[in-house]
Amino acid sequence: MAEDREKNGDTEQSTDMTEHTGSSEQNSVREDEYEKVCFMCRRPESKAGKMISLPGGINICTECMQKSFDTMNNGNINYNDMLNNMPNISMVDLSSLQNQIPKKQRVKKKEEKQTPKKEFSIKDIPPPHVIKARLDEYVIGQEHAKKVMAVAVYNHYKRVFAPSSDDVEIQKSNMLMIGPTGSGKTYLVQTLARLLDVPLAITDATSLTEAGYIGDDIESVVSKLLAAADNDVERAEHGIIFIDEIDKIAKKKNTNQRDVSGEAVQQGMLKLLEGSDIEVPVGANSKNAMVPLTTINTRNILFICGGAFPDLPDIIKERLNKQASIGFQADLKDKYDEDKDILSKVTLEDLRVFGMVPEFLGRLPIVFTLQPLTEEMLVEILKEPKNAILKQYKRLLELDEVKLEFEDDALRAIAKKALEKDTGARALRAIIEEFMLDIMYEIPKDDSIGEVLITREYIEHTGGPRIFLRGQGIPLIGSENGKN
Ligand code: ADP
Repeated sequence: MAEDREKNGDTEQSTDMTEHTGSSEQNSVREDEYEKVCFMCRRPESKAGKMISLPGGINICTECMQKSFDTMNNGNINYNDMLNNMPNISMVDLSSLQNQIPKKQRVKKKEEKQTPKKEFSIKDIPPPHVIKARLDEYVIGQEHAKKVMAVAVYNHYKRVFAPSSDDVEIQKSNMLMIGPTGSGKTYLVQTLARLLDVPLAITDATSLTEAGYIGDDIESVVSKLLAAADNDVERAEHGIIFIDEIDKIAKKKNTNQRDVSGEAVQQGMLKLLEGSDIEVPVGANSKNAMVPLTTINTRNILFICGGAFPDLPDIIKERLNKQASIGFQADLKDKYDEDKDILSKVTLEDLRVFGMVPEFLGRLPIVFTLQPLTEEMLVEILKEPKNAILKQYKRLLELDEVKLEFEDDALRAIAKKALEKDTGARALRAIIEEFMLDIMYEIPKDDSIGEVLITREYIEHTGGPRIFLRGQGIPLIGSENGKN
């Protein structure tokens, strides 16, 4: 036994030994498995780029190397003088060697195009009716929302460029957009930012947390905007920040739990919405010791918050029914149950009941609603906007010299299918892609095909599309009575 133990002890020891003695070899192998790290900024090679290896196993990234040279130059330290004054050290003047390379052996620098930096001014902002007309080209329906936004944006930029006056202070036109999923909230903001040519950052309120919790902290939205403005602070300060799903940070009705995501986030956003100096990392999403910081003032940033506010119609109905049951209007009770546009009757009080903090609402003075999309609107979305999905498919087939047409009934069938999904216009693309896949796959196979007509039967899976031969107008597949 003792022997055994001794043996075991020995072997244990010996394995230990091998771990230690063999370590230098193993380490050298392992060392190769690791990225080189910059001695100065501590960033790995994958982040900092190629390293310059110095004797003694020291690696330095090119950026830090450059920085060290720059500080030497800026500090007006003449290292040549310094070294020349030292005994027994002589310096080779490298610049003289560089100058010995004849010009004909050197590549000429490409001339950089100088694009003058555009000053952003009120002249770049079109008047409300022009903004609305431009939105009309892309966004179907939502007339009220487009009008409110056009005026609010115009006033916002007027305020930004107005000379400051002591007697009147124009309030910021931050907006709160309420509308069902897929009704065009994000799309409206995107279109607006594009036509005004201002940077836009889109973020989701659910990803925001109070500073110190896991998730993006509230200020990260500003660094997203800076990135969207190509790190141009001035441009970012005139940009738009869209915070989607704002209803998800409503105050919880059940206050037993620690409310991390709701009320506290709303409170945390107050300063941001109003205007304050925010320190943001440049070129990164989070602050850390390695990333340079810059300050952005949010005073002139336009904040637009959007959400579907799912329980809000019930809150509005309850209020209206309560009012109706008091006094003379008692007979009107329940008349709101069928009201499709109930959201447009929203008041600040309803939003407060929903769970939005009064101070938060106070910083979003412009509240408006979007309508749920109807079948007709969905059909229009399919074909009317400048970049309508149907136009895109038509163009794609046109490049194969094939004409693509849709029966009106087919479009209505698509819209009906989309309505069933209850995700607004978002469902349209998925539905179309599903049946266009076969068309886009099969048509290029046969050169003789000149036209494709998508029928209702094809959409409803009870028939196929009608295919016409090139130049003949004869249906190859499909019903006999030809094209209507
Ligand atoms: P949400 O209201 O949920 O933010 P989106 O704006 O993301 O909805 O809409 C999804 C897509 O549906 C958009 O990218 C756009 O193509 C289309 N869409 C939605 N509403 C409209 C509309 N009113 N007019 C034109 N396209 C729309």
